[in-house]
Amino acid sequence: MSQENRPVNRITVIGAGTMGSQIAMVAALSGVSASLVDIKQEQLDVAKEQLWSRVDRDVHKGRRSLEDVNAAKARLNFTTDLEAAVAASDFVIEAAIEDLKIKRELFATLDRIAPPHAILATNSSNIVSSRVADATSRPDRVCNMHFFNPALVMECVEIIPHAQTSEKTVDIAAGLAESFGKRVVKLNKEVPGFIANRLLNAIRREALELYEDGVASAEDIDLAAKTALRHPMGPFELMDLVGIDVVYLIRMAEYEQTADPESLPAESVKKLYEEGSFGRKTGKGWYSYSN
Ligand code: NAD
Repeated sequence: MSQENRPVNRITVIGAGTMGSQIAMVAALSGVSASLVDIKQEQLDVAKEQLWSRVDRDVHKGRRSLEDVNAAKARLNFTTDLEAAVAASDFVIEAAIEDLKIKRELFATLDRIAPPHAILATNSSNIVSSRVADATSRPDRVCNMHFFNPALVMECVEIIPHAQTSEKTVDIAAGLAESFGKRVVKLNKEVPGFIANRLLNAIRREALELYEDGVASAEDIDLAAKTALRHPMGPFELMDLVGIDVVYLIRMAEYEQTADPESLPAESVKKLYEEGSFGRKTGKGWYSYSN
């Protein structure tokens, strides 16, 4: 079989945080062997504990069979050894911190250690793949593959090619996402924020403006979104779920690309970020969480 037509048998997901850990579990549940890599062993330990308890609960509730879950667990490898994992992979999904410098360094490393046929995708919410593709010698095999939080539940995956991404790469990425049981939204060209987050940003921007102008509390704005628009959660609840740090860094990354002050994080988001109130993950954001 030519390298171009080789199916995706093994993937590596980089970053065992909110997104990477669940993406790796989604892959393992779909039947693909996956390595989840992080620079921090503690992060891998936490990810494993959370994933195992989540899928065990699914078995307990009858949503998945014990055999499927045990097979998926056996397919998922947690490691800090980036080189060994990537060298054996057909497809890499980068879900490390939203920082262009770190992502560029990672893509240069991945290009050096991944097999020549391997596709390198970034799950970045805002950094378009052309900005990491030029750190590699294989820009045709680089794209954005954007999952939504929580990746185990959310159906949508956006696939975004940059100008040099090959059609083959888009097809393989889309096929992989479909094999994960996801619905694929293909973009024709890259644009910061892609589709769903641009729609969401418009709502979030309005919500923050209403809040900062003292028009209503975060709770009441969330209530309006849920009861009048039938959104499953309000914009402030969603920021706490996504992580205030992630929301902040996404705005900063967009500002870096647009140089438009409109892209900067809202003052109230900046304040929460600076005091370390990152939402659910720290127990406090717009709301307080007891555990
Ligand atoms: P996170 O902070 O929860 O996790 C990032 C992980 O990456 C951490 O465990 C960190 O230790 C690890 N990491 C940092 N540098 C690394 C490196 N060089 N090698 C390996 N691991 C490294 O972040 P997250 O919320 O999971 O976001 C990850 C990516 O996914 C970002 O690019 C973000 O834009 C994107 N994204 C986030 C969401 C969301 O709702 N949080 C949704 C879609 C996409």
